[in-house]
Amino acid sequence: MAFDIDMIKKVYETIVERVDKAREITGKPLTLSEKILYSHLWDGMADKAFVRGKDYVDFAPDRIACQDATAQMALLQFMQAGKSKVAVPTTVHCDHLIQAKVGASTDLQSAMNNSSEVFNFLESVSNKYGIGFWKPGAGIIHQVVLENYAFPGGMMIGTDSHTVNAGGLGMVAIGVGGADAVDVMAGMPWELKFPKLIGVKLTGKISGWAAPKDVILKVAGIVSAKGGTGAIVEYFGPGAISMSCTGKGTICNMGAEIGATTSTFGYDESMERYLRATDRSDVADAANEVKDYLTGDAEVYENPEQYFDQVIEINLSELGPLLNGPFTPDLSTTVGKEMTERAQENDWPMQVEWGLIGSCTNSSYEDLSRAASIAQQALDKGLKTKAEFGINPGSEQVRYTAERDGILDVFEKLDAKIFTNACGPCIGQWARYNDPKNAPKNSIVHSFNRNFAKRADGNPNTHAFVASPEITAAIAIAGRLDFNPMTDTLINENGEEVMLDEPTGWELPPKGFDVKDNGYLAPEEDGSNVVISVKEDSERLQLLTPFEPLGDSITGAKLLIKAHGKCTTDHISMAGPWLRFRGHLDNIANNTLIGAVNAFNMKTNFVKNQLNGEYDAVPKTQRAYKAAGIKTIVVGDHNYGEGSSREHAAMQPRHLGVAAVLVKSFARIHETNLKKQGMLGLTFANENDYDLIQEDDTFNFLDLNEFAPNKPLTIEVVHADGSKDTIVANHTYNQSQIDWYNEGSALNLIKKENNA
Ligand code: SF4
Repeated sequence: MAFDIDMIKKVYETIVERVDKAREITGKPLTLSEKILYSHLWDGMADKAFVRGKDYVDFAPDRIACQDATAQMALLQFMQAGKSKVAVPTTVHCDHLIQAKVGASTDLQSAMNNSSEVFNFLESVSNKYGIGFWKPGAGIIHQVVLENYAFPGGMMIGTDSHTVNAGGLGMVAIGVGGADAVDVMAGMPWELKFPKLIGVKLTGKISGWAAPKDVILKVAGIVSAKGGTGAIVEYFGPGAISMSCTGKGTICNMGAEIGATTSTFGYDESMERYLRATDRSDVADAANEVKDYLTGDAEVYENPEQYFDQVIEINLSELGPLLNGPFTPDLSTTVGKEMTERAQENDWPMQVEWGLIGSCTNSSYEDLSRAASIAQQALDKGLKTKAEFGINPGSEQVRYTAERDGILDVFEKLDAKIFTNACGPCIGQWARYNDPKNAPKNSIVHSFNRNFAKRADGNPNTHAFVASPEITAAIAIAGRLDFNPMTDTLINENGEEVMLDEPTGWELPPKGFDVKDNGYLAPEEDGSNVVISVKEDSERLQLLTPFEPLGDSITGAKLLIKAHGKCTTDHISMAGPWLRFRGHLDNIANNTLIGAVNAFNMKTNFVKNQLNGEYDAVPKTQRAYKAAGIKTIVVGDHNYGEGSSREHAAMQPRHLGVAAVLVKSFARIHETNLKKQGMLGLTFANENDYDLIQEDDTFNFLDLNEFAPNKPLTIEVVHADGSKDTIVANHTYNQSQIDWYNEGSALNLIKKENNA
C-alpha cells in the first residue's frame, strides 16, 4: 500500500551503478549527499561532474508529497497537463486546514465542515490521477512520510518547506513550489543548483535533559537563520549514529530554519530499527545490501575539511538543553541562568502561559513518551501544570499507539488538551484568542520549528520559544521561562520541594506500532471514470483554463506599476488571510501586487489607470486594462520575486493580463515561474533604463517575432508627450522555454506533446 519495494530496489541498483561512476568522474570519494544527487541525475546528465553552488542540474526525484494548502493549485495545474496519472509516486496530506481549539474530535469535525469542499476536491483529484490521499486527521505530512515513504538514499520533493524532515531516514528531501512539483508529476525533470555541502560532525552522546532538538537549536545558534542557504547539511560521526531515527528527523526538519536546501544522515542501525518497526523490513533488507552506498565514504568523514565547503563539530556530551527565541529560531539561549539573565535584560515575560508539544518537528512516539515521563513525574510528585498544555500527535499511528500505551492518559491527567493529528498551532491554526491583534504580551514554549511573530496564535505580543518536548513539558509544569529542571525545585500540592528527574522514554513502542484506521485512501487503479467536481460559485476552488499564448506581437501595452525597491513574492501575492483562496486563481488575483511600492508616489496598491487618469488599487486597475483588451507590463528593481517559490506570484499577473515583467534583476525561481506561465520575464540591458520609465508609458515590442535564445529584445517606450526611448531587454530563455511562451505555458506544451 504505502510504498513500492520494487521501485526502491531499482533506485538501489542505480545508486550502485552511478555512485561508482561519479567517484570516477569527480576523482574523489563522495559524501552521502553527492551519492544521492549523482544517482538521481536526469537521464543523459550522469556523465559529468558538477560545480557546487554554480551549476544548474536536472534531477529525477523518486517521490512527491503535497500538503493540503499547497496541493490545491499544484493539482489544479496538473489537471491541465492532460496526463491520466502522475509520473512519479505522489501523496497528498490534509494537515494544514485543521484548527486547534477544543480538542481532537470536535476540532476535526469543524475542519471537515469548514473545508469539506477543499478536502473532497483533493480526494477526488488524488483518486483520479493515482495519488495516495491521507485524510484529515491522518497526521502531519512529514511524520506520515517518515513512517511510510521515506527510504535511505532516496530523493523526494514536497510542496512544503519541512519536506526536509525525511533526511532523518537518509533521504535528500527538498521543499519546492507547486509548479516544480507539477513538472515532476507530469514527467519532466526538476532543476536545482547543485548545492554546497556543510558537514556537521557529531561526537559524544546525548544525555540527561539534552535531546536531538538541542542539536539543531545549537546549529541554528552557530550558523544563523541564513547560514545554510544553498547547502545540504550532512551529519556524521559517532554522535549521529547514537541518535534515534526520529531524532535525526527532528534535526533535519529544522534545517529549514537555517535556510538549508536540506539535511541528511547516513544509513545506520537506528534507521534500520525504524524501518522494521514501521512495517518495512523489506526496505531495511534492501538497504542493508547496499549500505556502503547509503552513507558518505569513510575517507570523507575522516578528513571532512577536504570534502565539505564548511565543517562544524559538536560534542553531544557537552550539549545542554536550549530555548531558541523569541521571534526567530536562531536566537539560542541555554536553559537556566543564561535564559534568566536574557529574559530580564529584554523584558521577556517570565511567566509561561502555554506549553505545546507537536508539529512535524517533534511529534513522534519517542517525543511523546519522553515528554510523558516528565508529565508522569508531575502526577507522582503532586505537581500541577502552571501553564496550559497542548499536544498534537504527529500521526494517527503515533496517536493510536500512544493512547494504547497510556501515554495520552498521562497528559490528560495533567489536564492537557489533545488536539488533532495535524499542524494546528504550528501554522496559526489555533483559536487561542477572539482578537489576537490586541492580545496581551505573553510567553509560550513549544516543540515546533518556527516562532516568528504571530505564527502560532496571531498575537504579535506572544513571545514563542522553541525547545525539545521534554523541556517544553518541564517548563509547562513550572510555568516559568527561567526554570532549570536540572537545578531548580518546585513546590508541590503538599508544600514540599520536589525536583524533576531526567526524562526517559522509548525510541520505538515496546509493543510495536498499531493503528486501526491510519487515514490512507489508495487511488483507483484506473481513475478515468472519477469525476472531479468544483462548484461554479465556489469561492475557494476554481478549475483553471489554459492561458492563451501572448503572441509574437505586443504593442500598445500599458505600464501597470513601476515597483520601487524590494518586491518579493509576498508583495506580489500576499499570504495571511489570502491563504483561503490558494485554490481559486481569480479570487486570489485580487491581491496581485498590492504590497508593491509604486515608484511614482511611494504608495502601495495605488497606481494610475491610464484609461481614465484615476488612481486605484493595482488589481482593479489591471482588471480594467484586461476588460479593455490591453496588455500591460510590470517594471521592477533588483531581485524581483525573491522569497518563496509560490507559483501564484506568476500565475496571478498572467491571469489578469500582464504580458511582461521587466526588471533590473530577478530572483531565479520567480523568473522560471514567469517562463512556465508563458510570460516574458526580461531584464534591463542597461539598468539605468529603469529611470526612463514614466507613469503614462506605452510599450511596443519591436522584434518579438524574432524571439530566440541569446538574442535581446528591443522595446520602444512611448512617453505621454509623444517622445520615445528605445531600450534593450535581456532574457535567459532557452529554446524549450521559448516554446512554453509560444504555447501559452509549459503545461500547454506538455498537453500538446501528450496529445501528439
Ligand atoms: Fe509546517 Fe508546522 Fe505543519 Fe510542520 S507542523 S508542516 S512546520 S505547519
